[in-house]
Amino acid sequence: MDVPFLPLGAVNARYADELKAAAARVIDSGWYVLGDELAAFEREFAAYCGVGHAIGVGNGLDALSLILRGYKQLGALTDGDEVIVPGNTFIASFLAISENRLVPVPVEPDATTFNLDPARVEAAIGPRTRAIMAVHLYGQLADMRALDVLARRHGLLLIEDAAQAHGASEGGRKAGAFGHAAAFSFFPTKNLGALGDGGAIVTDDPQLAERVAALRNYGSSEKYRHPHPGLNSRLDEMQAALLRVKLAYLDRDTVWRRHVAARYRDGIRHPYIVLPEVASEERHVWHLFVVRSPFRDALQRHLHANGVQTQIHYPIPPHKQPIYAGLGHVRLPVTERLHGDVLSLPMGPTLDAASVDRVIAACLTFDGAA
Ligand SMILES: *Cc1c(COP(=O)(O)O)cnc(C)c1O
Repeated sequence: MDVPFLPLGAVNARYADELKAAAARVIDSGWYVLGDELAAFEREFAAYCGVGHAIGVGNGLDALSLILRGYKQLGALTDGDEVIVPGNTFIASFLAISENRLVPVPVEPDATTFNLDPARVEAAIGPRTRAIMAVHLYGQLADMRALDVLARRHGLLLIEDAAQAHGASEGGRKAGAFGHAAAFSFFPTKNLGALGDGGAIVTDDPQLAERVAALRNYGSSEKYRHPHPGLNSRLDEMQAALLRVKLAYLDRDTVWRRHVAARYRDGIRHPYIVLPEVASEERHVWHLFVVRSPFRDALQRHLHANGVQTQIHYPIPPHKQPIYAGLGHVRLPVTERLHGDVLSLPMGPTLDAASVDRVIAACLTFDGAA
């Protein structure tokens, strides 16, 4: 039996009865968009994050994009403004910026934590910089304390891409509660995953909350009146009901992810496998367990030959994608090195002890050459 990377069927089978009951409730209600399930989930998720407002939307990209669109309409951002973003993030962080006619300014991460390096962020702040988009990559909180100081000193918006970090915290304060606004994804593979697409914006800014709640619904807060140019991106009743079931188990799953990560970090001692560093237990929710190796491709082949599925997050950085050819002059050696040597090991709430042992054993037999 192979060790799968993340068996989603098994993840959801653990609460199949509750999920089916929630689905039946929605089917029987006869109400499928913008109803009581969404309102309840928004209350529960805002409370979980420790913020005043949560607004459910269609996916994580729309959540990011609507934050920026909302701040543009409120006058805090304008066409051509620069948004600092980590160079080594998922493409969605970049797309949300550029589709709003803003300019992504990629900054190098700290290679040990994979997250934005505040000193490099400060060096990248220029006259057109208006916002910092921090990404809590792989589930670990970025250095929000330092980024908050920078944002205040330079009068910038601080936005969190928290798509991978549901429940990560520092001093009891959760991902999503540090910036002016934050975006979450509930894509099925995320730590809090729907059974389809989903996302949410969380914020303590009542003006932004009101605006994005309208923008996700054709720019309307009153039927058939459309004062703002919006779009259609709503978290539907079915996904909201299913997410309410799964939110109750999120912290328990995080405990298990931390246990798996601790076992990996204890067991995988190998000269060619560099383990991830964590600032503190609390800050990391281990969406992914990412190691680095100078022989990454050989390591991946070796693990696959031993029945261990792995993935690469991500093989090509956004600034090297054809759509960002305009950033061709940008040199990001740290980012580019990371994309060549990172490897994600199996990680998830259903990974059992025997599978963890198999992953560790397979890593330890890697000879580096091959
Ligand atoms: C998944 C993800 C997104 C986008 O979420 P979708 O729901 O897939 O649109 C954005 N940013 C990061 C860092 C992600 O991992």
